[in-house]
Amino acid sequence: MELTEKVVILKTGKFKENDLWVRFLSATRGVQNAFAFGGSRSRRRFGGCLEPFSQVLFKTGTNKTGTYQVLQEGSLVKGYPGIRSDFRKMGLAANCFKFIESAVLERDGNRAVFDLLTETLDVIEEAEPDDFFPLFFRAKVAFEQGYNPDFTICAQCGKPLFSSRPVVFNIEKGQLNCLDCNDGRQGETISAGTARTLAWIQDTGPASWINLQLPADIRQECFSVMDRFMAYHMGVVWEGNGYRKI
Ligand SMILES: [Zn+2]
Repeated sequence: MELTEKVVILKTGKFKENDLWVRFLSATRGVQNAFAFGGSRSRRRFGGCLEPFSQVLFKTGTNKTGTYQVLQEGSLVKGYPGIRSDFRKMGLAANCFKFIESAVLERDGNRAVFDLLTETLDVIEEAEPDDFFPLFFRAKVAFEQGYNPDFTICAQCGKPLFSSRPVVFNIEKGQLNCLDCNDGRQGETISAGTARTLAWIQDTGPASWINLQLPADIRQECFSVMDRFMAYHMGVVWEGNGYRKI
């Protein structure tokens, strides 16, 4: 089977003198691995597009027995030189990539997640996001993958939650309740500001998050509940310098 598709290159490595393996996020097929034979020398077929952070149009096929994918040729769509030449920006983008590698499997091909990743790279390239930017990215990937609680209304009585009162988040059910409907034993209390921030992330994209000035306690609470929510529903936990699927 042969196909042409847009991808973002997550990682590459050498496995023989001129040959590379490439891990990439496909716009339609999730995270994929393929070999690029002659990848490190063929300018005609790959024209310098086999670099992490590149957005590339790939023509992909398989070997004769169909056991692995082979990249036949690629052309660069966008190169992100600003990310590649700045250690801090590279770290932010790499953090997002690590999450994609553990959270978006082959079967989870999702155009919205691909668009989210390219918009995120655009923002990191053009602006100076702070160190918390990847948190918003992770939360949004979870929302786009369908782990998408409604932070705006009480799951029980249907009343809007946008007052200044705290709300109750049941992480396991992925549901929110107002204080009147919950005696505090099911789930944990989070501030209205945290619920509002997470609802806002659901409605916006990376270009909006860059201007967000969040009080430290709300930011901390967003981190804390979303990391536990993703661990419970997606089985992904952060460990030191990478994510682990549990
Ligand atoms: Zn209620």
